[in-house]
Amino acid sequence: MSEVLVTGGAGYIGSVVCRTLLARGHRVVVLDSLTEGHRAAVPPGIPFYQGDLGDPVLLGDIFKKHAVAGVVHMAAYCLVGESVSDPEKYFLNNVVQGLALLRVMRLCGVKNIIFSSTAAVYGEPRESPITEEHPTAPINPYGLSKLIFEQALETYRQAYGLRYVTFRYFNAAGAAPDCGEDHHPETHLIPLVLDQALRQQGRKATPPGEGLTVFGLDYPTPDGSCLRDYIHIRDLALAHVLALERLENLPVSIFNLGNGQGFSVLEVVRQAAEATGVDIPYAVGPRRAGDPAVLVASAERARRYLGWEPQFPDLRGIIQSAWEWHEGHPEGYGTG
Ligand code: UDP
Repeated sequence: MSEVLVTGGAGYIGSVVCRTLLARGHRVVVLDSLTEGHRAAVPPGIPFYQGDLGDPVLLGDIFKKHAVAGVVHMAAYCLVGESVSDPEKYFLNNVVQGLALLRVMRLCGVKNIIFSSTAAVYGEPRESPITEEHPTAPINPYGLSKLIFEQALETYRQAYGLRYVTFRYFNAAGAAPDCGEDHHPETHLIPLVLDQALRQQGRKATPPGEGLTVFGLDYPTPDGSCLRDYIHIRDLALAHVLALERLENLPVSIFNLGNGQGFSVLEVVRQAAEATGVDIPYAVGPRRAGDPAVLVASAERARRYLGWEPQFPDLRGIIQSAWEWHEGHPEGYGTG
């Protein structure tokens, strides 16, 4: 029986993709460098390789040992701010190492790949919601690194017959029972807000952090804070598996993944306070560089061609699932 290689399978979203693949009867192999991912996030009992995408010997070995029919490529760096201060890290990992993966796939005759891209390829949106036809004009090196790899995939399709799907994620959020968000340092809104709730309750052993800062209250939005489209990682994961299963018959390759509804930063804080029963204090700071005011997806295409329907679209439910994981793992994968 053929197998699916998940690169970045020890990461926040990758670990859920692995479980969704297994639940739908696929066999899974994971490659992860563990620079960001957690060994404990990988489902027990599946083959795991620690190493870099850019290591052709290791990759060749994996393709020799396993009958890999397709790759879900999620191993990447994903912090906008860091990409601005250290773009080389993003080009080397997200582009150069990604190309190394494509080369080994080509040499080993592996033709199918699902790629994790980002709404950051659109840059400053000209309209909302954003469809896949919206022009791509990234405003940070992270978005650019993802766009370059998207274009490499299309070039490989034309030249070598590669079959691919690119998913442009909006704001991945929430948790599955065994998998949650544990980044070091954490920069994402929902885990930071929940972290504050844990600290307010005195449930974290580590010293107090800096507190929550809302980045900008002067955006042209109803309450002045940014609007984002939060999507549950279980819904994201399901789309990957559906795409892999339908890859040979898809007439389009690029799909947005979001819920089509924008929530403000202040609304997230308010709903998190409700979900946790804790008043969450915050300060107001300046805007964060590279943050568009509004990022909301049209995911009609994924519904139409993949038969994908989000099962957990409700923001309150997304936050609740994340809270359950954070309560069980107050210090991340090291606890719980
Ligand atoms: N945000 C914030 N304070 C924080 C982290 C994030 O106000 O400490 C805002 C950020 O400016 C954005 C939204 O929350 O408008 C979501 O940010 P996140 O980093 O979670 O995801 P991104 O939109 O960058 O992918």
